Formats: sequence, structure tokens, C-alpha cells
Amino acid sequence: MKIVLARPPKTQGGLEKSSVQQPINLCSIAAYLNANGHNTEVWDFEVEDSGPETVRSRLEQSRPDLFGFTALTATIKAAHEIACLVKVYNPEIPIMIGGPHASATPKQTLEEFLNFDVVVIGEGEETALDIANRLEKNQPYQGIFGSAYREKNRVVIELARPVIKSLDDLPYPDRSLLKLSLYKGASTPGLEGENLQSTELFTSRGCAEKCIFCTVKGTFGLGVRFRSPDHVIGEIIECKEKFGFNHFTIEDDTFTYRKSRLKELCQKFKELNMTWDCDTRVDQVDEETFKLMRDSGCVKVAFGIESGSPRILRLIKKRIELDQVRNAFKAARKAGLITQAFFIVGSHPTETIEDIKLTKAIIREIKPDFLLVNVMVPFPGTELYDIMKERGYINGTEDWNKFDCLHGRPAWRTDMFIGDQLIEIQKNILLSYYLTPFYLWRIFKKMLTREGFKYYTSATLGFLKYLFIEDRK
Ligand code: SF4
Repeated sequence: MKIVLARPPKTQGGLEKSSVQQPINLCSIAAYLNANGHNTEVWDFEVEDSGPETVRSRLEQSRPDLFGFTALTATIKAAHEIACLVKVYNPEIPIMIGGPHASATPKQTLEEFLNFDVVVIGEGEETALDIANRLEKNQPYQGIFGSAYREKNRVVIELARPVIKSLDDLPYPDRSLLKLSLYKGASTPGLEGENLQSTELFTSRGCAEKCIFCTVKGTFGLGVRFRSPDHVIGEIIECKEKFGFNHFTIEDDTFTYRKSRLKELCQKFKELNMTWDCDTRVDQVDEETFKLMRDSGCVKVAFGIESGSPRILRLIKKRIELDQVRNAFKAARKAGLITQAFFIVGSHPTETIEDIKLTKAIIREIKPDFLLVNVMVPFPGTELYDIMKERGYINGTEDWNKFDCLHGRPAWRTDMFIGDQLIEIQKNILLSYYLTPFYLWRIFKKMLTREGFKYYTSATLGFLKYLFIEDRK
């Protein structure tokens, strides 16, 4: 069966223009479908034109029997707009929708977006394959675990599909399905260099934590499933030999989760002459771990801190202490790693101006190389969504386009702040750190090389554009 899997376009401002992540999740599903006899293409509208004429001519060329999207809450409407184009071209093409938003709201998604026919809930590979196989045999969707569909004017949600136990059974994501020349540089800030050929890599799926704002468990379930080191290394070798990638952004939610495995992977990375970066948690690292990582080619680590207020950290179930934050940044810097910190303004609706002051204070203490401050978004399916709903701050009929941490204008408020104030606080935190003499001096020193000058000039312009010119929708 001919299948197209697509990622819808997303608002991209100065901050992301040069840092689009490859849709490795779609490449993984496509590889799985193709390994099982289908013929799948991946269209990425984050980097490719999604105008009606282009979509139509691509449909003419590809003539898919099945179309599938992955979408976030903020891109679900964009996905549906393209689904409309597909249906106008040929109303007989069934359209699947997967990703965090549809997984959290399968019934609402099918009721709200009439051009989607079937929802893939959670992990995509096996459910998408079952759907394709059923359609090929002209059989109905009934009984496909992890799916939802319409039947006689009602929505049927089938039993949940168990997560894939052995990730090693999946083929490597097929990156050859992407137009790789459209993804330039690393998808994470701070990694300049014209010779950097970067891709994303998942060595595990899921997370064992329960932060109230996080959507991960809706897609991958609770708990972590690991690929074996040999399977991961096989994919890296393929990426190096087939595509020339020399840098890997490890997209695991917490890459350093199991020490013995981390050690084994680091030993193998070292032999591969590659660089890499990852996200991790401050409670899972120490000097020894960072040294091991640095010796094996790690150049950067990013941590979700979210707040400098112990009260807020408790309420959002982050389960970290501020001393762990301090120690992690100190140890990372000592090991020579670039550091990035993520914070959220309004991560709990009871956040006060005093909590914000504590956030600013911890940022000044840890001095991350890169700071990203998001405005809280209560994504459907999260505990935070329920809390916000209980308080009457959202009602489930908000414009999904506003559910964008960086570019949305919140349609909600918290106890203390209205949406516009949350944006002002976000800007204030960013500027009060980035404009300190300490930080400006740090950037000035980095700009003394040709590559550094090019990278930081463009990054600074993008940042200023984001703060002062871009309009929040
Ligand atoms: S925010 Fe990070 S640590 Fe918390 S649940 Fe999500 S992935 Fe896990």
C-alpha cells in the first residue's frame, strides 16, 4: 500500500529557523511499515512547502492509499488544513492522525476535525501497520488496539495497545525518506560549526517521572524502555556511513537514567569519533558521569529545571532539589560541557512574584550557557490540564494554536497573572539574564572566532526578533 506520513507546518520564529529537528518518529514508523511490505514516504511540512498547489501536485505524483499525520496540540489545526487538501484531492483516502494531542483527546479530535478518519493512540508503529493492513484487505478498523474511529455517528475507542517491549525489534528510522539538505546544523543551540552534520537519535522511549505538565506518558506510557547498546551503535554507524552524520542529539527524555548502560554506550561512542548532546535530569548526574560523557564526545547537556522555587518544584512533581541543580551545573561546567537550562513561567497556577524572583536567582547562580524560558501551556492529557480546568482557567474549547510554549499568547491565566503578564515575565527573565555584563562578555569571547561570530550574530538577531518583533498569536 502506498502511504504518506506527514508532519504539519509549525510557527517558526527567529529562535527556531535554523534548528528544525528531523521527524525521526515518522522515519521510524515509515521504516516499520516498509519492512512489512508497504511503500511509505515522509513529507515534512516544517521544512517543505505546504501550499495547496504543492500539496496537490505531490498527491498527484505519489497517489497515496493512506495518509497519516503526527501533530502536537499547537499543530493539530495545521494538520487538519492539509487533511482537507487531501480529501479535496480524493475523499476516498483514509487519514490517520497520531501524536501527543490526538493520543490525549481521541474522541474530541475525531469530533472536532472531520477530515481525520482514525486516531493512532500512543506509540505509532504497530497501530499504523494494523490500520494499513486492514485497509489493504478492505477490512474495518474494529478491534485494532490503540485506535479510535467513527462508527455510525459515534466515536469508538479501542482498547489501549501495550507499548512495544523490545525496541530492538524495530528497524532503524529511515532517514533516507527525508530531504536531509533542508535540515541545517544542529537542532539545539550552542553547537556552531560548518562541518557539523547533525541528526537526532532515540536510544530509549518514555520517562519514569510524573511532572504534571509533561505529555510524554501519553505517547510512550509510564516507565523507560531501552534499546540495547549494540542496536543504538548499529544505527549510529549507519548514520555515519550512509549520510555522513558526525553529531547526534540524543532525544531521550532522560538519557543518563541507567548508569551501567550509560557507561557502556559512552565507551562505544568513544570508538566512533563522534560528538553528541543530550537532555538529562539534575538528580541523575555527577562529576564522574559528566567526565565519562565528555570523554566520549559529549559537548552539551540540557536540564529541565522549570522553577527556582522549592514550593513550585514540589507542586509540579519535578522531584529535584535546588542543591542538585547547583551541583549539576557546577559539575557540567567543570567537565567542559556547554549547559542549557529550561524554565517555565507559570508552571503551576499558584506561582507568585516571589517564586519568579527565586527562579531569577537560581538562573543567576547556575549561569547556563543557554537559557530557554517557556510560558506554561496546559497540554491536554496532563495533570496540569486538569488542574487548570478545575480552577476554571481553561474549558477545553480554547484555540489549539495558542497551545504553543514559545509563540502562543495564552488564552488562560493563573491565580496571579493574566496571559499577557506571563509573556512579560518570560521576556523579563530572559533579558535580565542575557543582558548581564557577565553573559555579554561570555558571548563576546565566543564571537572572536569566524564560526562563533557567524553563529552568535545570527542567534542574537533571532533572539531579539523573537522578543521584540514577533507577534504572539
Ligand atoms: S518533564 Fe522530563 S522528567 Fe518530567 S516527566 Fe517529562 S520527560 Fe520525564
